[in-house]
Amino acid sequence: MAVDLSLPYDPGNVFAKILRREISVQILYEDEYALAFPDISPQATIHVLIIPKGAYVSSADFGASASNDEIAGFARAISKLAEQLGLIRNGYRLISNTGPDAGQEVPHYHVHLLAGEKLSAKLIKKNAE
Ligand code: 5GP
Repeated sequence: MAVDLSLPYDPGNVFAKILRREISVQILYEDEYALAFPDISPQATIHVLIIPKGAYVSSADFGASASNDEIAGFARAISKLAEQLGLIRNGYRLISNTGPDAGQEVPHYHVHLLAGEKLSAKLIKKNAE
């Protein structure tokens, strides 16, 4: 079900449960601002989700309400993760689905990192024909 961006943050969402360690994941990167773990349903050879530790529904909410430290920390965490995964030379794609038209399903801001192969333009948008 697509995320309704008009709703407040729901602490029962699956990524909030992962942050509280109620659901276990393979942690690929963690610092005070971000947590990264493999997507349960990978769409590329490497498919990692990066989430902020703060309670933000979407990219829109994060950009509007997070502190400068949180925004900078999150951006730096993505770069550190990419370096740690050895992706700086060949590259990677970042996607953040925001709201119903983009098909956002989990109402906790997250960035998809796709890599490890030549990526199809189809992966720019979920469910693209
Ligand atoms: P969205 O559609 O909101 O941009 O992306 C949500 C992503 O979360 C999907 O790619 C989906 O596979 C992933 N996902 C949903 N539930 C879980 C889970 O419990 N564990 C992990 N690792 N990924 C999940």
